[in-house]
Amino acid sequence: YDYDLLVVGSANADLVIGVERRPGAGETVLGSDLAVHPGGKGANQAVAAARLGARTALLARVGDDGNGRLLLDSQRAAGVDTAGVLVGGAPTGVALITVDPSGDNSIVVSPGANGKLTPEDVRAADALLRASRVVSAQLEIPLETVVEVVRRLPEGARFVLNPSPPRELPAEVLAVCDPLIVNEHEAQVIVGGELAGSPEDWARALLALGPRSVVVTLGAEGALVADAEGSARVPAVQVEAVDTTGAGDAFTAALAWRLGAGSAPAEAAAYAARVGAAAVTKAGAQVSFPTAEEVAAL
Ligand code: ATP
Repeated sequence: YDYDLLVVGSANADLVIGVERRPGAGETVLGSDLAVHPGGKGANQAVAAARLGARTALLARVGDDGNGRLLLDSQRAAGVDTAGVLVGGAPTGVALITVDPSGDNSIVVSPGANGKLTPEDVRAADALLRASRVVSAQLEIPLETVVEVVRRLPEGARFVLNPSPPRELPAEVLAVCDPLIVNEHEAQVIVGGELAGSPEDWARALLALGPRSVVVTLGAEGALVADAEGSARVPAVQVEAVDTTGAGDAFTAALAWRLGAGSAPAEAAAYAARVGAAAVTKAGAQVSFPTAEEVAAL
């Protein structure tokens, strides 16, 4: 394989303004200077994996604009192969984020070019898929595009899905997830109702829908890995949390990479928990992702 991990997903520019109070309907407030950061779950995962040392490629779409160039620069600086990043068709996706002093935020996402990553683009990237040991996706691109990835998945490749933002999933997608990686809210939407009992019970309800394995992320409580054989808790690494943005993306990328390298699920999740913990000790998403040396030093 040329790539340890191919990420198929979104790339967004995060446009962040600090405010004293988030505006209500019809209201205008003054805020801080604008900060623009590279983000989007797909782009975040690719940067996280590459910083750890995984040979990583990204299949995504950005606009032919300054935000698109910002995202490409960030990928290349991390060492991601961007030959699969398509340019044009719509403006680069953006997330408009206002953050108040308590850290609470309001976010509006304009998918832009992410919404124009089509099944045809997946078909045209056949060589990239064949060159990749693990393929990872999220749901900030059209579901039909994710379905095409699943249909085109080469024999022997592993598929990892973080269904975020969550929606009900077709059985053919669920059936190949190894693992399906969800937090509590995502688990609830995928199962299609209130979750009862413990995370172990949620994992069982998710497994009944068909995935080969499930990982439930529990923030500062760590994670749970589960498959037909049983389940295991993975404790979180105790750190001073500064900013949890992107922790889930860093965790997912690290987990996907280590599973592809042959680690057992609990071992891969323990490593991913260290990566997630390192990511929460620094502000920002992509800039907070650790190198392998930083994970080892934690
Ligand atoms: P996101 O908010 O980025 O979508 P998520 O809800 O999918 O994230 P989390 O459970 O918040 O995912 O974080 C993923 C992993 O990162 C956790 O399973 C845990 O191992 C680690 N992690 C997250 N927050 C903390 C924390 N405060 N302290 C230590 N580890 C953490």
